[in-house]
Amino acid sequence: MGMQTLMEKMQNNSLPQLDELYKEIILEHYRKPHGREPLERVDYEAEGMNPLCGDEVKLCLQLKNKKIEKIHLDGHGCSISVASGSMLADMLRGKTISEAKEISKLLKDMMHNKSTEVKPDLGDLEALEGVKKFPVRIKCALLPWTTFEEALAGHEHIEIS
Ligand code: ZN
Repeated sequence: MGMQTLMEKMQNNSLPQLDELYKEIILEHYRKPHGREPLERVDYEAEGMNPLCGDEVKLCLQLKNKKIEKIHLDGHGCSISVASGSMLADMLRGKTISEAKEISKLLKDMMHNKSTEVKPDLGDLEALEGVKKFPVRIKCALLPWTTFEEALAGHEHIEIS
């Protein structure tokens, strides 16, 4: 079996049936995750695990003037958890802590089907909405975000179940 075929097989196995457009956005982030550059200084960090799927993420934050200057993510996991972490790096860079927490809350509300008065613009994160049809995978999508919140709260290791 060629490498390409093997890659495709793995990706198909790890992705539930999602709309093609959403699937494409998720796979793009999965293939080249953002936020992999090292930081000069670590102000907050945490490691999160999702044993149900085997996802692991390490997240480090570097703050400057009360804003998230840089984010570093590391780890491994399924396409949804890796893509969600990559999107987190894009979305939270340059935000204040309270803005970042608000985005995290909006994503959780979206995944748990809570309606908001105005539909927020969540950019690429909207591609994760389709995942909510697959309750087991919601944990994969939320792992980097929960790890982010736990890092701010000073918890260094979390396991979601
Ligand atoms: Zn997963």
